Amino acid sequence: MELAIHADVPLNTREKGYQGWQEISQYLVWAKEFGKDEPQLTVLEMTPQGVVSFETDRPFLLHRVPAGRPMHVNHLFGFWHTSDADRLWIHAKYPNSHHYTMISGGNLGTNSLSVVSWFCPKCANELVRFEDPNPDLGPDFWDKAAEHVKEFNNSLEMRTCKQCGHVHPHGYAFLPEEGTEGARERLQW
Ligand SMILES: [Zn+2]
Repeated sequence: MELAIHADVPLNTREKGYQGWQEISQYLVWAKEFGKDEPQLTVLEMTPQGVVSFETDRPFLLHRVPAGRPMHVNHLFGFWHTSDADRLWIHAKYPNSHHYTMISGGNLGTNSLSVVSWFCPKCANELVRFEDPNPDLGPDFWDKAAEHVKEFNNSLEMRTCKQCGHVHPHGYAFLPEEGTEGARERLQW
């Protein structure tokens, strides 16, 4: 009998057959290909020194977002997301497409907490924060995040900064073209 040491997981990144997030052992993995004319996705981190953007002119970017740090990806999801797992963000540029991969995990028992938050783009004050325990450790928290987006968009009070009065634009759920909202409004960073 042949001993299976590991099983390869096929990732279909093309529009047809694209499978969204996949749970692979202790990792959650997402990968998708975008046409070269579509807006480029950019990963941002909220650091103690402020918002830092990670992009490169090189054809390949591998960026690690440490566990516990809010991250946002322009055009992919319109909120800040924090996890108790490290995230790896991979951006590979091909002549006719951009290929993105996000991998969340790396330690047993992580992906157990999901935080959705928004910060004031004028003064960096945290406007609102939703914390969800994720006992199933699967990718369902992205659906939960979509509910928080709705709540945030429907509440002018939540979107108004108590520190400076700035009104935050509407957020959007993960991969907005798949959702009903359809908006691809950028966060203002
Ligand atoms: Zn403010």
